[in-house]
Amino acid sequence: MPSVSSALPLSIEFFPPKTPEGEHKLREVRRQLYALQPEFCSVTYGAGGSTQEGTFGTVRAILEEGIAAASHFSCIGATRQGVREQLAQLRAMGVQRLVALRGDLPSGYGAGGEFHYASDLVAFIRAETGDAFHIEVAAYPEVHPQAKSPEADLQAFVAKVQAGANSAITQYFFNTDAYFRFVDDAYQRGADVPVVPGIMPISSSSQLLRFSDACGAEVPRWIRLRLQGFGDDTASIRAFGLDVVTDLCDQLRTAGVPGLHFYSMNQSAATLEICQRLGVRGG
Ligand code: FAD
Repeated sequence: MPSVSSALPLSIEFFPPKTPEGEHKLREVRRQLYALQPEFCSVTYGAGGSTQEGTFGTVRAILEEGIAAASHFSCIGATRQGVREQLAQLRAMGVQRLVALRGDLPSGYGAGGEFHYASDLVAFIRAETGDAFHIEVAAYPEVHPQAKSPEADLQAFVAKVQAGANSAITQYFFNTDAYFRFVDDAYQRGADVPVVPGIMPISSSSQLLRFSDACGAEVPRWIRLRLQGFGDDTASIRAFGLDVVTDLCDQLRTAGVPGLHFYSMNQSAATLEICQRLGVRGG
């Protein structure tokens, strides 16, 4: 196995487990991934605050393990007072980084709430808490699926930066041109914050295709066809996925990206293997 050597800021995302077994398993997964020396680990937040307890619990566990933790925080359906209380709770826990999002309500929920867009949440957090938090926001190199147009989506990103975001993490992508174009376009419009690529390791073909359809990430035809061609052969899917995603990360690193953010899916093997192949660790 090649030695892990050169430093590149890494961050790793988890979702809050639903069961005690899931919690136990995630603790072990985190322990393995900490070998990469991540700059921070983040924990997703369910629509309408549905996972708040699990999110905050996992964030607390990460902090207790001596690692910087970022809480995702979505505002759709939320009230100002509710957000104010949760921000106070996070500050009391020692959280210094947030991923501020609009989020999506599951169908059947009314929109409601006092925030419309993530930019409203970023502005509110800044107004309420000053510089207490480093604020990350989401970026969409392949355009958010609900955007009126690519230009409107870029403007929405710029608005989040103008409202006070410090940096951004992208939706995952397999097409580096879309990322570089997005960063150039955002910079030209004055949004000159670090935009860290979100990396989705490929370990299951059906899961990847389902997620990508839902979030608007494009899986290139050749990757889709190769994955479909492997059928149920999970070993071949994993081997191919590792090659594709390592190559993607290598192109991004060579181009000088400010870091890599891994969507771990609460698994360690693929993220560890990709970083080992690249010879990178955080720090
Ligand atoms: P926004 O930036 O508010 O954008 C949402 C849409 O509104 C876009 O189409 C945008 O173009 C449009 N828009 C924005 N401002 C305006 C305006 N002023 N006028 C008109 N249109 C506007 N979801 C979760 O539920 N939990 C999570 O933990 C989570 N983590 C994520 C982490 C990352 C790194 C990413 C990339 C996504 C994450 N998501 C998460 C998914 C995210 O919540 C969805 O993509 C959601 O649909 C949009 O959230 P946003 O913060 O990007 O919204």
